[in-house]
Amino acid sequence: MLYINGEWIKTGSKGTLPVTNPATGEKIETVAYAGQEETRKAITAAEQAFEYWKKRTAKERSAYLYQAAHYLRQRVDELAETITREMGKPVREAKGETLLAIDYLEWYAEEAKRIYGDTIPASHADKRILVIKEPVGVTAAVTPWNFPIAMITRKIAPAMAAGCTVVLKPASATPLSAINVFKAFDEVGLPPGVANLIIGTASEVVGEMTANPKVRKITFTGSTEVGKQLLRQSADTVKKVSMELGGHAPFIVFNDADLDQAVEGAIASKFRNAGQTCICTNRIYVQEDIADVFGHKMAEKVKALKVGNGLEDQVDIGPLIDRFALEKVEDHVRDAVQKGARILCGGETLVIADAKGYFYAPTVLQGATEEMKIASEETFGPVAPIFTFKDEQEAIQKANHDTYGLAAYCYTQNMKRAFQMMEALEYGIVGINDPIPTTAQAPFGGVKESGIGREGGKYGIQEYLEDKFVSIKLD
Ligand code: NAP
Repeated sequence: MLYINGEWIKTGSKGTLPVTNPATGEKIETVAYAGQEETRKAITAAEQAFEYWKKRTAKERSAYLYQAAHYLRQRVDELAETITREMGKPVREAKGETLLAIDYLEWYAEEAKRIYGDTIPASHADKRILVIKEPVGVTAAVTPWNFPIAMITRKIAPAMAAGCTVVLKPASATPLSAINVFKAFDEVGLPPGVANLIIGTASEVVGEMTANPKVRKITFTGSTEVGKQLLRQSADTVKKVSMELGGHAPFIVFNDADLDQAVEGAIASKFRNAGQTCICTNRIYVQEDIADVFGHKMAEKVKALKVGNGLEDQVDIGPLIDRFALEKVEDHVRDAVQKGARILCGGETLVIADAKGYFYAPTVLQGATEEMKIASEETFGPVAPIFTFKDEQEAIQKANHDTYGLAAYCYTQNMKRAFQMMEALEYGIVGINDPIPTTAQAPFGGVKESGIGREGGKYGIQEYLEDKFVSIKLD
């Protein structure tokens, strides 16, 4: 279903889109599939609604976000099950994601009331300088499948709080979670046109979003490759952009770290969502003298992880999203083994009874080197390659990536070293002895080709605001 100008639309100009469960291969639902025509209508509706929405008081906008959060909170189990069915992550993780998605709505319901401007001392006695904050305007949001609900609220909650109106295109693999968010907006009586949902063909929908001059802001989460394309497409109409793109996180373990905590942390960071998160560890760097014991301990624990349909109890790792994702993981492991890596556990595609999905065994590789594909390309799967380093300087030099700069992790019990590493790592997010840093109140985002802008906390709402400078001459 599409949601345009406050109306549910059950047919799309591009026909229908089947939604399949990646654990079983079964079709679970069919939704309307749209194109340029519907996108244009949604943008026009958002433009008309903007005049009304930007004039609401912060308290009024906040109330809608609170009510939507409340509606979703009553349905956490149902929403989590939908996530698992459409993209595979274990239902326990899906529940965590749903709660995070609600946190974003609540955080920005609060933050709507704290959009402060400035007064600046002027250079002339008869002048006064004000800076006021204004919403950017119609915002087009494009989101990925790996966090099918949290990536949506992380964008549209701050946009709506700031006074922007929104047109969202979710990933085609996961439209059902997006529909669930819009059911909440519909139920709480959000004014028509403030938030619109277009499920549709990427080239047409996003092509219209980037070309249409009525759209003033593009906010995208997805691969670096597509992000670059959207930057190019947005250039002609000089839109404000936020880009949350790919990552290649290093996980550094010094010989002064608590080894058991480091192993637990590496597993949490690497295997969450079957390795399909942008801040998942992609390279583990362990100080030479502890590398063997670290690898052994990690492999012992990883062997115990249960792979299967995320709806089943006790499953730790679900399927990969599709065949292409599975083939990429197979290719990275094959390439690493050919270049000398040793498989400590896993290293194979799994066939699971009663499930036809894309399962890969959680894998630990010892003896990884910089020449392997896995050292520089985003794997997006459950493979943990262990590299070694001699000292801090070498760890920093290897950990900083030429292209990516999203998240990095460091395990040490030496406080001076923790600060030195925090400052030397060229990443937007650094977890010191913390493998899961994401939270609604902190700025999430990357440097280099991992992105532009931040989502979360007081920083996230600035992406949807413009500063207007007003100079007043009194005499
Ligand atoms: P993707 O292929 O770039 O797709 C993301 C979104 O862009 C989807 O809605 C997709 O639509 C759309 N899209 C795809 N090709 C397009 C094109 N040519 N023109 C316009 N739109 C297009 O990424 P993904 O595979 O869904 O997600 C995985 C990537 O996202 C990874 O690289 C990951 O690191 C990154 N990610 C980053 C963050 C972050 O916060 N930095 C968070 C999560 C994920 P369709 O689904 O219809 O193709």
